[in-house]
Amino acid sequence: MNIIFTLFWIPKQEEIRMGTEAEKESSTPAKGKVYIKEDLCKGCSFCVVFCPTDVLAMGGRLNYKGYHLPDVVAPEQCNGCDMCGLYCPDFAIFGVRLKRKKKGE
Ligand code: SF4
Ligand code: SF4
Repeated sequence: MNIIFTLFWIPKQEEIRMGTEAEKESSTPAKGKVYIKEDLCKGCSFCVVFCPTDVLAMGGRLNYKGYHLPDVVAPEQCNGCDMCGLYCPDFAIFGVRLKRKKKGE
């Protein structure tokens, strides 16, 4: 069932190509982007612990089940490695690598 949810989260191609507003403003654009399905999160914080670039931190927000949610505190540092997704026991988060437009595209 969770795998089906994961398939629905595949971001639009334009979104992957263009990146987020925060990344556009940054002088060093992020190489990746992280997506969180907040309703599935159980607040275990594995994603925070295993993110190699400290993109995530547990925040004060709660989902509808009352679990604390991770916040994306440093989106410009995401490299899309998907370590967060690999360690999440609930398929509630994943990272993707962003495609960069080459000159002339
Ligand atoms: S690893 Fe998954 S369930 Fe745990 S806090 Fe992160 S997103 Fe939520
Ligand atoms: S995709 Fe990698 S760098 Fe980005 S938040 Fe997840 S673990 Fe951190």
